[in-house]
Amino acid sequence: QFDITELDLPDILGTIHEEVRARFGEGKVANYIDALAHVPLDQFGMALVTREGHVFEVGDSREAFSIQSISKVHTLTMALDAVGDALWERVDREPSGDPFNSLIQLEYEKGIPRNPFINAGALVVADVILSNYDKPEEALLKFMRARSGSEDVGGDEVVAKSERESGYRNIATANFIRSYGNIKNDVDAVLDLYFLQCSLRMNCVELARSVSYLAGKGRCNVSGEQVVSWQLATRINSLMMTAGTYDAAGDFAFYVGLPAKSGVGGGIVAVVPHVMSLCVWYPGLDDQGNSILGRFALHRFAQMTGLSVF
Ligand code: GLU
Repeated sequence: QFDITELDLPDILGTIHEEVRARFGEGKVANYIDALAHVPLDQFGMALVTREGHVFEVGDSREAFSIQSISKVHTLTMALDAVGDALWERVDREPSGDPFNSLIQLEYEKGIPRNPFINAGALVVADVILSNYDKPEEALLKFMRARSGSEDVGGDEVVAKSERESGYRNIATANFIRSYGNIKNDVDAVLDLYFLQCSLRMNCVELARSVSYLAGKGRCNVSGEQVVSWQLATRINSLMMTAGTYDAAGDFAFYVGLPAKSGVGGGIVAVVPHVMSLCVWYPGLDDQGNSILGRFALHRFAQMTGLSVF
């Protein structure tokens, strides 16, 4: 068992903040929608929540941003909670090695997405939620608010609308999967739920809290609820490790060594099982779509603390 009381966490976060600030401006913001294209590159936040519920934070850790694909962790949890292992008949568990919005494998694999964290997989997960929750959008918001401890969590209508207006590839993907019968509900309803989840705005503290159950054997330390079983928490972590950071998951395992899920808004959540959950945010992305300085911050954190699942 790792004793984090031996670590000077405020000092470590302060050092990372300084190192990151010296590199402000690196990377490119996502520009497929206007709402993301103008986020300035002089903001960085980092927050961690220990298993005991203590929060350590630095920089712009209370600045809300578009969580985008980070939401795929939460919707996967909701879908698994609803249908259990039956989900794996409809979504695989292999890293894709292709960009997150790629369609190419879907044809070979007859509409079964490679994993729940690429867009194709997240669309099937959204479909499962639609089939199993009475009011899916409300259920999603309720889940996010309970996990983060913040009633303020909500969708950004402007982002959701522009996701839809520019969402040709997601619309194509959903229809393509539908043609194989692996989406059961109305394609537009699936897309609406998917665009809502992408448009949620949260800050680093809220996001770190929202995945505390993955660091705590399935128990959320905000609500005290057992969200999933211990075994399921370890499985979600394994998927984050192998597929949570687009087609750079191997690189993340190498440099960071922690299960993580990123989004094109520049946020990345990470988990140190049994110890803490974290979130970093810097809007500039690298070529794979991961926050360039967020990745660097997690790398430095792992280096300075020695925390790693390996
Ligand atoms: N809204 C984005 C899309 O579906 C999410 C991308 C991401 O964060 O990976 O294309």
